[in-house]
Amino acid sequence: MAFDINKIRNDFPILKQQVYNKPFVYFDNAATTQKPLKVIERMNKVYRETNSNIHRGVHYLSDITTRDFEHARETIRSFINAKHDHEIIFTPGTTSGINLVAFSFGEKFVSEGDEILISALEHHANIVPWQMLCKRKGAKLRVIPMNDDGELILDEYEKLLSSRTRIVAVTHVANSIGTVNPVKHIIKSAHRLGVPVLVDGAQAVQHGRVDVQELGADFYVFSGHKMYGPTGIGALYGREEILEELPPYQTGGEMVDQVTFEETTFNRLPFKFEAGTPNYIGAIGMAAAVEYLQETGLEEVAVHEKDLLDYGTGRLSEFEELVFFGRAKEKISVLSFVLEDIHPYDAGMVIDKYGIAVRTGTHCAQPVMDRFGIRGTIRASLAFYNTREEIDRLCQAIRKVIQMFK
Ligand code: PLP
Repeated sequence: MAFDINKIRNDFPILKQQVYNKPFVYFDNAATTQKPLKVIERMNKVYRETNSNIHRGVHYLSDITTRDFEHARETIRSFINAKHDHEIIFTPGTTSGINLVAFSFGEKFVSEGDEILISALEHHANIVPWQMLCKRKGAKLRVIPMNDDGELILDEYEKLLSSRTRIVAVTHVANSIGTVNPVKHIIKSAHRLGVPVLVDGAQAVQHGRVDVQELGADFYVFSGHKMYGPTGIGALYGREEILEELPPYQTGGEMVDQVTFEETTFNRLPFKFEAGTPNYIGAIGMAAAVEYLQETGLEEVAVHEKDLLDYGTGRLSEFEELVFFGRAKEKISVLSFVLEDIHPYDAGMVIDKYGIAVRTGTHCAQPVMDRFGIRGTIRASLAFYNTREEIDRLCQAIRKVIQMFK
């Protein structure tokens, strides 16, 4: 199907509105994406027609919803090319997925003196759970450093890997500055020492094709709401062999097999990790988002977003006062910058008045800001429904900001 930007924009009702009497421009896509009608209507249909709790009902509607939920699992499996459906665990989102692994893997495999390796580019969601684990177990958190362009220094990574390393947890794409990490290479090096790798794919799956088997990832986590799906749902992929070995994370209904007051046995995968009523309507909505992305064409999405990134980089470079952060050779969909002495928050407030949503601050990546010695950036994060004209509008607003504060 040809990439038709007008049709695409029509699919997203929220984009049609005016904000402060100006056409709305949404450049906060790394925080959350907008939802196409296909997703909204699919979820609406469940609420209106088939809603019923899954797995435990014998009645008509429960059966339909259970099938739709398990079909959603299969859709997510095929989206990232996992081998088995039961390698897909539905979670409330990326943060929950990482917490699940940090707790469960940590419980079984991490002890005093061990090391956990993360990178300088992580979102807080891929720092704090590991930090807490290290505190619980007396383990040490080690960090792969980055260079001034925002690229991980791979020689340093190789040096940090050792027989003490228990797990490596890295982001696929950095939400703060857009660096695409060479995760396949990172995984290969870790595997040479038998160390498993968790990849945070929160900013990757919506921008191009991800194949977890090709990457060799042991765990891969992402959120529905950042890939045009609903909030409160996400997926954790785990290789079957490794998931089988992990103890349960949260406990309660659904994740059990036999329960007595003395003893409990656990359900098989994936249910062992899905305690309580899962967000089945969220999962069905997330699968509808995957279908929408696939119908739009992930290759076409990547081409359009690359064009926007190149165009935006060129246009913003025209401002002498503007300094970019993140100049990695492999980079996607994020323009992160400061305007000389102007506080990013002040700039964001003015840009907002032109009907343009950008994010300002540390982007939940304070160590990245510390590395660059800045208090935060202005971040315009792009999606495939954005246009060159919207970038021109952003440039006009930035010109006003500079005029106002200088
Ligand atoms: N990891 C990255 C790279 C992110 O960008 C985000 C959110 O911005 C997260 C993790 C956390 O995602 P969520 O809030 O959906 O759990």
